[in-house]
Amino acid sequence: MADNVDMANDFAEQHTQRHVAAARAAANTPDPILGNCEACCDDGVMVKTCGGLLRCTPCRAKWERR
Ligand SMILES: [Zn+2]
Repeated sequence: MADNVDMANDFAEQHTQRHVAAARAAANTPDPILGNCEACCDDGVMVKTCGGLLRCTPCRAKWERR
């Protein structure tokens, strides 16, 4: 039984780590994350969720100016 619990905990931990970036993106996190801008398709930039898309800093500035 203890082994099963350990395995479940390990699985949950791996699952959490693997999906933490996506989860944070989906949760409208105020923290910038390293990802792809969905507005200008830049890769490997710091993005924040803004208006339902992940946007890099210049795209967020443009979006906020509307
Ligand atoms: Zn962008």
